[in-house]
Parts: sequence; structure tokens; C-alpha cells
Amino acid sequence: MANSELDILAIAAHRDDVEQTCGGTLLKMAEQGKRTGILDLTRGEMGTRGSAEDRAAEAAAAAKILQVSWREALDIPDGRVENTWANRLKVARVIRQTRPRVVILPYWKGRHPDHYTASKLGYEACFLAGLAKLNVEAALSHQPSAFSQVASAVASVVAGEDQTSTSAAKAGRRKHGVGTTGVPALSLSKGALRGITPGESSEGAGEKLAPHRPFKIIYATLYYDIRPTFVVDITDQFEARFESLMAYKTQFSDQEAGKDIFPARDEIRARVESMARFYGMMAGVTYGEPFLQKEVGLVEDVTAIPVKSI
Ligand SMILES: [Zn+2]
Repeated sequence: MANSELDILAIAAHRDDVEQTCGGTLLKMAEQGKRTGILDLTRGEMGTRGSAEDRAAEAAAAAKILQVSWREALDIPDGRVENTWANRLKVARVIRQTRPRVVILPYWKGRHPDHYTASKLGYEACFLAGLAKLNVEAALSHQPSAFSQVASAVASVVAGEDQTSTSAAKAGRRKHGVGTTGVPALSLSKGALRGITPGESSEGAGEKLAPHRPFKIIYATLYYDIRPTFVVDITDQFEARFESLMAYKTQFSDQEAGKDIFPARDEIRARVESMARFYGMMAGVTYGEPFLQKEVGLVEDVTAIPVKSI
């Protein structure tokens, strides 16, 4: 993979969340020539079935099915996703590295604390990533000099200064590719997932990624019962998305029975299909994935608005 820059980055708490909530959309975008990526905040070490290593291999297999260009997992503890300064910095570093135009986050309410915390953590990391004076690498390496820069950036925010530097971001696009960022990108062809840990950079805190703020943040709402603001038609991607979920064999196969995986598979398929049909029906298509955006929609031509009223 020549570079790690993406059009769309989906951020989620656990490996297999993206496959369940917005995998069809990622595949659809990839089929349209967009570069997509997935950032899993945790590595799944708390799962009752399978090790973190098993889940890494499964995540790589799922990513391949969804045709994503980039996938990594952070080292945030599974079951303990917290919206801390350090975690925001880790996610902000990935946003600067991958420079997505669109970020997909989980919806901000839910049953699992990791899910709704990931939403707020992701949003605040997107904000931080755009702060021109924030040196994320230095802050993560806990060097004393980092604190003055962070304090300076925060002080600027309080003062209401515009922190996003478009020219700096463009310069960063040209300058920073894999190998210069200090953050190793996943090479799916090698089948290995690498996490990002503070201080892992071989180039140290001196290497500074240019600020970047995503243009758009949308929220995948499938885990929560709320009316979406729009639905992506995944009719043509549904089967592949289901296969990407089935790639998590340690999670979804009926191991205890020791027979075949079909009972579990059939049950999961019924659930996944009914949800996709439900949201598809809302939009007049067969299968859909639901999203919410905080902003209003903007229309140029009212005769071209999709989804029939009557
Ligand atoms: Zn999850």
C-alpha cells in the first residue's frame, strides 16, 4: 500500500462493529473507487472466544472482503474504552495520518458503554486533529515540551482562534506517506494487523503530522433504535457484508456444539437480514444501512430528491 490516505475512515470500539453497522457502505464506496479504512479502538482480548491474535487475523480477512485499503487496531483495553486525553491523542494521530474526508462514528447512545464512548471520543479526536498548534506525537511521547504545545493549543481554542490550516494540511498530504509518519500502516496483503502504541514511532516525537480535520462526520445508528436521517442502499453489497461478519469465526461459529456452524449462521443471518431489510424498506430499496448526520441536508434540485413520499 503506497500511502495511508483515505477518503473514508470508519472508527468503532470493537473488531466486528464496522462489519455489523456500516460494512456495506464501506464496500460500496470502495467499489466506486474510494479509499476506505477501519480503525478499531480495541483488540478484542476480553472476548470469551478466541484470543486477540485470532481476532486480528479475522479482522484482516473481513477487511479484505470489504475491500478496505487500511485497517488498524489501537491498544485501548477492550471493555474499557474511555474518553481520556491520551486516547483522544491516539485517535487524532490516526486521523492526521489517514486524512479522511469522511469519518464514520458509532451513534452516541447505546447499550454498550464502549460504543457510545467511542462516539464521543471519536468526535473530540476529529476536533483535536485539526488543531494547528497541537503536536500529537510529542504529546503522546510525554515529553515535557509537549505539554507547553498542548497548553498553547488549548489556550488558542479558548481564545477562539481558527486552528485548521488548509495549506498546512495540503503540505502534509504531499509530505507524509507511510514510513515518514512514524505510524506503521497495515499491509493487508501481509495479513498482519499492527496496533499503534505511544512511543512506537521509530522517528520519535520530532516528526509532526500536519493538522487535518474531516469535512464530514456521520454516525452509524444500527445498534440503536433511532430514526436515521439517511440510508445507504447496500442491496448489491449485502452478501459480501454478511460474509465479512462470518469471517469472525471464533465469535460466530457454534463451537460448543462441535457440529457445524449452520445453526448459528442461520440465526445471525436472519437477524442481520431483517435489520437491513427494515432500513432498506424505509428508503424504498431491498437492503439499507442507517446513518444520522447532525447537519441539515442541502438540496440543489428538489425534483431529484430520492425516496418516494406516497
Ligand atoms: Zn461492539
